[in-house]
Amino acid sequence: MEDVNALPGMEVLDGLVRSVTTPEFAGMTFHEVAAKSALNHVPRSSSMPFDWTINPYRGCTHACVYCFARGTHEYLDLDAGKDFDSQIVVKVNVDEVLRRELARPSWNREHVALGTNTDPYQRAEGRYKLMPGITTALAESGTPFSILTKGSLLRRDLPLLTRLHDQVPISIAMSIAVYDDELQQAIEPGTPTAQARLDTVRAATDAGFAVSVFMMPILPHLTDSPEALDAALTRVKAAGAARVVHGALHLRPGVKPWFMRWLAREHPELLPVYRGLYPGASVNAPQAYRSMLSQRVRPLIRSHRLYGRSDEDPWRRPAPPGSAQPGSEQPGPAQPTPARIITTSRGRASAKARPQPPEPARLF
Ligand code: SF4
Repeated sequence: MEDVNALPGMEVLDGLVRSVTTPEFAGMTFHEVAAKSALNHVPRSSSMPFDWTINPYRGCTHACVYCFARGTHEYLDLDAGKDFDSQIVVKVNVDEVLRRELARPSWNREHVALGTNTDPYQRAEGRYKLMPGITTALAESGTPFSILTKGSLLRRDLPLLTRLHDQVPISIAMSIAVYDDELQQAIEPGTPTAQARLDTVRAATDAGFAVSVFMMPILPHLTDSPEALDAALTRVKAAGAARVVHGALHLRPGVKPWFMRWLAREHPELLPVYRGLYPGASVNAPQAYRSMLSQRVRPLIRSHRLYGRSDEDPWRRPAPPGSAQPGSEQPGPAQPTPARIITTSRGRASAKARPQPPEPARLF
């Protein structure tokens, strides 16, 4: 039975099939949609080093307070705070749509990045198991791809990824920003511990992957001391990582109010410092801070015999894509689920539907 009042705003979600809750994911609602497209084209004006992304989920149960993607939830009439963490849009037909897009003669088998907007191995993936279908479709079409995640759930797919790695180049990156368990639980409450992620790095390394660790965002006055950075890099090296990407905290407009509210609650003594580093609408910490941080991190990375780069170093991007234009086909049917259905809706893509928001490429 349809109950639009149960989930205000969901009428704007194009292709919504149903919204469900399950006891295993208390406090979360999954909005299952029949997606029209799987591959997102990244504008050439973007600084990202890839042209194509796939994001099977919108919103992220990892719930990082600093998450860049929070603002995109506001396009759905949901808030960028609690709703981003708990109202998850799931593209249940993504592998089927992807296969159609990859089969087009115009598809040039360019690199596809997974995990650039929200995490493909967030907790919801344990229920929906979309990644095996996506990665298999990419490999079978001869399309190389990369995965960036905070999810130790990646280990589930390592046997599959190892087999697919024989068919196409695959790169794996694990995002581990916070190595202090107490701080990690406070600022990334839905993520696996740093150690669980380091164990995943070890498992992927042992499976034959050269794993990158994204040590970002580095948080001013919370994780940026030489001692903290050195201890983190010691653990990263011990886990077998091949390289490290580092960068200071960015605070985009959609996330800044949520982050500052968290800071006021957890570390009120740092509020004046952060207001000084990120005044008004400024997204980045001042150049002087970023340079200082870089000068602090780079020698440490070298001393641990890791290859490293800053997120501010220029990225190489491949040549412009050909004429592939995925995304124009009709959605397929959604998959059944045993969970309780709390909202059912079909055909909302009609008069009431708004254009769906962009899925901006970003890195953690
Ligand atoms: S930073 Fe990444 S893992 Fe954390 S909430 Fe955002 S998308 Fe999820």
